[in-house]
Amino acid sequence: MAHNEAVDVVLVGAGIMSATLAVLLKELDPAIKLEVVELMDSGAAESSNPWNNAGTGHAGLCELNYTPQAADGTVDIKKAVHINTQFEVSKQFWSYLTKKGTFGSCKSFISPVPHLSFVQGDSGVSFLKSRFNVLSKHHAFADMEYTEDKAKMAEWMPLMMPGRSPDEVLAATRVMNGTDVNFGALTNQLLKHLTSAPDAQVKYCKRVTGLKRNNGGWTVSIKDVNSGNTREVDAKFVFLGAGGAALPLLQASGIEESKGFGGFPISGQWLRCDNPEVVKHHQAKVYSQAAVGSPPMSVPHLDTRVVDGNKSLLFGPYAGFTTKFLKHGSFMDLPLSVRAGNIGPMLAVAKNNMDLTKYLVSEVMQSMEQRLESLRRFYPQAKAEDWRLEVAGQRVQIIKKDPKKGGVLQFGTELVAAKDGSLAALLGASPGASVTVSIMLELIEKCFPNKASGEWAAKLAEIFPAREKVLETDAALYRKINAHNNVALELVEASNETESYA
Ligand SMILES: Cc1cc2nc3c(=O)[nH]c(=O)nc-3n(C[C@H](O)[C@H](O)[C@H](O)COP(=O)(O)OP(=O)(O)OC[C@H]3O[C@@H](n4cnc5c(N)ncnc54)[C@H](O)[C@@H]3O)c2cc1C
Repeated sequence: MAHNEAVDVVLVGAGIMSATLAVLLKELDPAIKLEVVELMDSGAAESSNPWNNAGTGHAGLCELNYTPQAADGTVDIKKAVHINTQFEVSKQFWSYLTKKGTFGSCKSFISPVPHLSFVQGDSGVSFLKSRFNVLSKHHAFADMEYTEDKAKMAEWMPLMMPGRSPDEVLAATRVMNGTDVNFGALTNQLLKHLTSAPDAQVKYCKRVTGLKRNNGGWTVSIKDVNSGNTREVDAKFVFLGAGGAALPLLQASGIEESKGFGGFPISGQWLRCDNPEVVKHHQAKVYSQAAVGSPPMSVPHLDTRVVDGNKSLLFGPYAGFTTKFLKHGSFMDLPLSVRAGNIGPMLAVAKNNMDLTKYLVSEVMQSMEQRLESLRRFYPQAKAEDWRLEVAGQRVQIIKKDPKKGGVLQFGTELVAAKDGSLAALLGASPGASVTVSIMLELIEKCFPNKASGEWAAKLAEIFPAREKVLETDAALYRKINAHNNVALELVEASNETESYA
């Protein structure tokens, strides 16, 4: 067995998270030596693949579950505002890279697609109106339009209006500057850019099988999936960007901070349509409300997708249950993740979430005709022959210890880091790829605090002229940064008024 090559950083997995962190670290320290280790034979083969996720550039423009309504009718917009500014931070990084010239075109991964919310029935309309009234007063949502006029809705969503009863109660909002993002193309573009620099490698068909502490860092065991040969690499810092499989690797690290975490895998399916005669009538991502009692990731949406220059429509997702942590994983993933430290929280979650279990069972049992019925709530004249069922990526929701309930199920993401900053893992899946850059900046601040506030501070300020907090409150700065990013990413045409922040 070959032994102990040494690098500064090992990143496990070649999805959007590792690719972003690796490129960011190389920008901050061009001398850093790093290796990305990927199980599959290409980048973005799991959740970051464009057909495994919905490709929504989540900016809080259309996702109704980001603006919960309290019993007294008030709508809380904090989460939508935060996700919007996180997405603006992602756009700053992509704009910075695009402007370098060597990164390649942004058109391969980001396209302008309007974001709409669509509701049915009196309570839906009253919620959407309240949401619009609060949200449109915030500078990040100032361009939002609201309508209950069906003629206008037919302009906004031509596919969705024919075939409806004239007395159906409907409302919609629209924001023109939403996006569709091909996170797979972006990941592979980041990896290509990374490996054009010295001392940066991506190794495919290699599985990380173990992690051991060494003096101040980690020894990472890596197995070649074809030959079975194993090598060991010493790294000062390890990032577990293994998507759903980050949990077992975190457990293998044995760090104190990993104790008590469990995972609850939820699979997904979509209906996909590539018929150009249908696709050309829908140019939007239209999100609606989830059925009462269903989890947030089940919010139905009918989306324009732009993948490799071709347009398609996706509808879904339909949830499902499997014990795999990755789409290409093993049915033993869930059972093998049970530990003395997480069995309590896992059992508590099983006991307290019977409604979720029932929901998943009902989703799994659906026939194609029932799936088409859900689609027809959006697109009443949908024909079965235009749509086919596809399997989406795997989400592993976080189970965590809770002092009161024993264990809770979380639908967001969580960065778990060792106290000494030598290892970090990303658990969970939502809002996911859109906010990768903010998550990786949080990682840098947590694991490299002295460098982030010292030798890397000037470069960070150059790449990110405005971070989330200031963008949430400073309307003029938000408008300037947003306009600049939209031009740099070719989402709008440059106008004479567009200011540069350089
Ligand atoms: C159905 C669905 C819809 C979604 N929709 C959206 C959306 O519209 N917008 C959005 O922003 N986000 C969305 N997301 C979330 C987004 O896709 C994920 O947050 C993101 O892709 C996660 O990236 P990642 O790099 O962490 O993981 P992944 O892309 O899953 O990459 C992990 C990689 O690690 C590799 N790996 C695993 N174990 C090992 C090992 N032991 N050794 C080596 N390599 C290993 C895997 O092969 C894989 O390539 C969605 C997710 C799903 C499932």
